[in-house]
Amino acid sequence: MNIDLHCHTTLSDGKLTPRQLITYALDRGVTTLSITDHDTVAAYEDLAASPLRIIPGVELSSQWRGTGIHVVGLNIDLHSTALRDAIAQQKLARRERARSIAEKLEKKGIRGALEGAARMAGNDNIGRPHFARYLVETGICKNISDAFSSYLGSGKSGNIDQFWPELPQVIDWICSANGIAVLAHPLTYKMTRTKLSVLLDEFISAGGRAMEVVSGQQLGQQTRDLAKICRQKNLLASCGSDFHQPDQSWAELGRFPAIPAECSPVWDYF
Ligand code: AMP
Ligand code: MN
Ligand code: MN
Ligand code: MN
Repeated sequence: MNIDLHCHTTLSDGKLTPRQLITYALDRGVTTLSITDHDTVAAYEDLAASPLRIIPGVELSSQWRGTGIHVVGLNIDLHSTALRDAIAQQKLARRERARSIAEKLEKKGIRGALEGAARMAGNDNIGRPHFARYLVETGICKNISDAFSSYLGSGKSGNIDQFWPELPQVIDWICSANGIAVLAHPLTYKMTRTKLSVLLDEFISAGGRAMEVVSGQQLGQQTRDLAKICRQKNLLASCGSDFHQPDQSWAELGRFPAIPAECSPVWDYF
């Protein structure tokens, strides 16, 4: 069994189309896959039948105490009205945020960023990686990582979380769509253990049921720490590569450490 419950396609900031992603997953021996694009489920409109077990999913953007927090919704009902409403609202938030990011960049003397990012996205689901690609294309930044550390990453003016709904709202949307709300990549928020514990308590009281114990490549110690927290909080454990493109630096599709045996896997509840 090779289960990957977090990855992206061209419908958000990934580089493979849904069909290319499925072929790629099959080539790598993945048996169960959830495509979890940022704030959209459009990938599910373009899937051909395949031997892969597909778990309908999404990665919703939210904010908690002013910090951007990502919540993966797994095994969601793609036809639920709650999900449709959620996606419509996220689309507006993302559009407003993109305008605001472009304005901030303009103040720094960078022109045409909104049009440039839209061109990179190829659709109206514009994310920071599309701005990053524009900054690299124009030669303003030398690579994507430089674009995040100079303009788009934490503490920089192009990192704006105020447009996203509060955390309980996105959890509620996922629950209303009969999905399981999973806290995505807990280590990326760089919180102290105490703050992460408070976040998880609020996540749980809002209806959250799982956390990613494994997100891409991570150290054995990190996996053990997260597994311990997961058990302490009585949460289900999820895992995924957060794959965006072949040759990305953090993890290949379907290739990451196993979740420790003492964790209850989220897929037992699908
Ligand atoms: P957004 O949903 O528009 O806020 O963009 C978030 C996405 O940006 C993440 O899912 C990653 O794909 C990407 N990202 C975030 N931080 C970095 C970074 N430091 N370097 C490269 N990509 C990043
Ligand atoms: Mn992404
Ligand atoms: Mn994320
Ligand atoms: Mn992701």
